[in-house]
Amino acid sequence: MPDQEVFMRVPPATPKRTVYTDAMQIFHRAADVIGLAPRVRLELEEPDYEHIFYITTKLKDRLVPLAPDQAREFADLPATKLRNPDGLEPLADGNYILNGRALLGSDVSIRSGHLRLSDGGIYKLVPGESRRFKAYRVQHNQARGPYKGGIRYHHEVSLDLFKALAAEMTWKTAIVEIPFGGAKGGIQIDPRQYGKEEIEAITLRFMYKLKRLIGPEVDIPAPDVGTNPEVMGLLFRQYSDGENERHTLRAVVTGKDIRIGGSEGRVKATGRGVAFCIEDYYAEKGTSVHGKTFLVQGFGNVGSNVAEILHSMGARLLAVNDAEGTIYNGDGIDVPGLIAYVQDPKNLKRSVFGFPGAQRINKKDLFEIQADLLIPAALGGEITAEIAERLKVKLIAEGANGPTTPEADKIITRRGIDLIPDIIANAGGVTVSYYEWIQNKRMEAWSEAEVNRKLEFGMKRNWRIIRDISRNVPRQTEMHDSRRFCIGKEVDMRCAAMILALKRIEAHYQLEGFSQ
Ligand code: NAD
Repeated sequence: MPDQEVFMRVPPATPKRTVYTDAMQIFHRAADVIGLAPRVRLELEEPDYEHIFYITTKLKDRLVPLAPDQAREFADLPATKLRNPDGLEPLADGNYILNGRALLGSDVSIRSGHLRLSDGGIYKLVPGESRRFKAYRVQHNQARGPYKGGIRYHHEVSLDLFKALAAEMTWKTAIVEIPFGGAKGGIQIDPRQYGKEEIEAITLRFMYKLKRLIGPEVDIPAPDVGTNPEVMGLLFRQYSDGENERHTLRAVVTGKDIRIGGSEGRVKATGRGVAFCIEDYYAEKGTSVHGKTFLVQGFGNVGSNVAEILHSMGARLLAVNDAEGTIYNGDGIDVPGLIAYVQDPKNLKRSVFGFPGAQRINKKDLFEIQADLLIPAALGGEITAEIAERLKVKLIAEGANGPTTPEADKIITRRGIDLIPDIIANAGGVTVSYYEWIQNKRMEAWSEAEVNRKLEFGMKRNWRIIRDISRNVPRQTEMHDSRRFCIGKEVDMRCAAMILALKRIEAHYQLEGFSQ
């Protein structure tokens, strides 16, 4: 038995490489370059708060398909004729949820808890069980305003990932000059494996626990991977349920449906913001998006909207990769057709895979296609060093958060591939979230044209400041003023974006000081 002192001693911390340390490399690099005040650096290098909590729910009964060899034993089982086929809710994993009284009033043939559906398959009836999920909210920094950041429902999330994403929100809100800080959170869950009513119950329970941590002036969630305006509506309902002045609380979440206080233009805002940056990049070179070819990874909110906007500007989409597969058409993919295919209710996985207007290719081949630009709009860490060496594009516009690893970053710089870094490229979503927040507080509703005009100004103005910092060209134009931010030497684009964020955040600590 070790003596008390030895027993209590905590082993010395060993520096471990994580998603967070990777994401923070650029913070440290930019902080070194500008000589960020040591105390500000300490404030920013770890989040203000890291919340982990658990939520439980009771799942519904399911029909789970049997493998063919197990199904043989039920070869003579007659098919069950459902009076109400709508009571069966198909899930992406092949299971069905038995909603309400799906089997009531039907001719049901059940043997040992198994039945045959009209598709011929044998399914096992699995009674709904109770399940626990891990949930997170990381609040990184609020020097510039309330915490702000999305809610992600995905099976591959962790505290470390949410720390990285929350910090990114702090940089992003500073870059687009909106008075918010940074946060991020969500649930470790694959939402495609759960029914509509289950997602509702899980979301309400999530907000039940989250409520004490957030608020319209404290921390304002929004959609991210796996969540959408419907989920935001549920979060608002649960937050405001039974409150006296419910209408004053609408600004607690953004990304709501426009019929319940969402902003015109919010759904497309992130994709539109990426497109504005790309448009300005080409305009500066004296050319345009028209006739350019592009590749997209991820065809959800960001990927599909940026593809649609670039397509409408005359660019040609050559290939798309998503979680299920990759498609290619050298003549250009019909983007509206692809969006309709992905959004078809029969396409349960919401995937581009199987789209008739393109051929299937391997994921690794996507990154070797010759094109003008690549838009990663899926998850983080997808562009590795190996991929960066093979890329045949001239520009990467990062729609996703943190899609490029630090090693890949160096290779991209060495190979002279231009970059529009994530913290400016995909900041359009949070910018319009801010417009939604203002509209809710003022009880106003702005037109889409007004939202897009403001968004265009916010995106292009700050993207120009970042380019000036990178090239060390301090100047004032009608649209922007980069004189305060240039540092007397050239830096790469990612570092320039971070410098803009840090200088704006540092000003708050310099001018307001620290509470004691
Ligand atoms: P989404 O859930 O609508 O779509 C995600 C897409 O990525 C889907 O097409 C999915 O198939 C694909 N995908 C998932 N895993 C993949 C994998 N392993 N390989 C290839 N593709 C994969 O999500 P979204 O809202 O479009 O977000 C996409 C990215 O953009 C995320 O990194 C998110 O953090 C970032 N982002 C989103 C917003 C926003 O407003 N929605 C704002 C800023 C940044």
